Amino acid sequence: MTITALMPVYPRCDVRPVRGEGVYLYGEHGERYLDFAAGIAVNALGHGHPHLVKAIADQAATLMHVSNLYGSPQGEALARRIVDTSFADTLFFTNSGTEAVECAIKTARRYHHANGNPDRHTLITFNNAFHGRTMGAISATNQPKMRNGFEPLLPGFAYAPFNDLAAALELIDDHSAGFMVETIQGEGGVSAGTSEFIRGLRRACDEHGLLLVLDEVQCGYGRTGRMWAYEHYGITPDIMAVAKGIGAGFPLGACLATEEAAKGMVIGTHGSTYGGNPLACAAGMAVLDVMLAPGFLDHVAAMGERLRAALEQMIPNHDPIFDSVRGTGLMLGLKLKDSAEARSFVAHLRDHHGLLTVAAGENVVRILPPLVIEEAHVGEFIQKLSDGARTYAMPGDE
Ligand code: PLP
Repeated sequence: MTITALMPVYPRCDVRPVRGEGVYLYGEHGERYLDFAAGIAVNALGHGHPHLVKAIADQAATLMHVSNLYGSPQGEALARRIVDTSFADTLFFTNSGTEAVECAIKTARRYHHANGNPDRHTLITFNNAFHGRTMGAISATNQPKMRNGFEPLLPGFAYAPFNDLAAALELIDDHSAGFMVETIQGEGGVSAGTSEFIRGLRRACDEHGLLLVLDEVQCGYGRTGRMWAYEHYGITPDIMAVAKGIGAGFPLGACLATEEAAKGMVIGTHGSTYGGNPLACAAGMAVLDVMLAPGFLDHVAAMGERLRAALEQMIPNHDPIFDSVRGTGLMLGLKLKDSAEARSFVAHLRDHHGLLTVAAGENVVRILPPLVIEEAHVGEFIQKLSDGARTYAMPGDE
């Protein structure tokens, strides 16, 4: 038998973390890494944050799991707090981002069903989108690498170029349920929706009775220096998928909705064995205790500006490799010139400079540190990045 016990769907690298502390990860042999990947925008509070660790330990000792058939004081309290920080009136807890997206798709379809329009089932989504790996989520993206071999996919999706409002509006027809879009595309290359695009989608939804579904699994929950990325646009969605930072390492997600948009989600329409169990909610509460404390989001915004300014200053020093910086807050992308490859550069930083980042589409290196970084970490990151650029052999070099 040659197959590994772990199904071999990931190109796993040689970094094998066994311990984390703040902004650092440690490998099996004590190797230390500066973690500016944060589990791909998950470890918002870094590793081993004492408040989160204690909340999980205390709750595990008190009550870990009960069925959603019972009343949930823990779920009610966390839902109330999240709803109060957002556009939403209600939410459903999931265990992951893709399940939150799945619930968002179902909520959108049920809305039109409840309105007596079951034919309005098609969500218009966007090129380069990433919504996760369930059948619904891969059907919602037109990236062949996610879809190949999994056909037949779910019907009910149409695809337009990202940031092309006219093309999106062109696709509206009698079957349209709404738009589903990442406010800032993550995997696609840290591409922010333009103000004209996101606001235009909102306007079209209002004009045509459609729903605006935002996927803020990666860009939400404090990552951009605001609690939600949509706040930068002066609009609100009808439905939104959230995960990653919400549990800061504990598997938790949520599908948020307005009362109107959730009108079809009545008893029996959806469910989850684990979603929002007491342990998950304790983690979620602890994250919010930290994130909603005065000054936390301002700190994220300030660190984001520091980091961006430092990157911009550094780019001309490494002209053959670095092109430009993109993104918002602590969701930043460093676009490389064609002469370099994001994937191999990320591997180089990891293997030779103890720095963790993530490659994304459009030849971009994603920079997603824990939201608790301090100025000293920015300095250390820039030093490692700069050293990495100096020692990186371009593809084709001897
Ligand atoms: N949506 C977006 C925008 C994401 O970035 C991701 C994961 O990277 C997902 C959905 C899927 O989340 P998960 O991997 O938790 O299912």
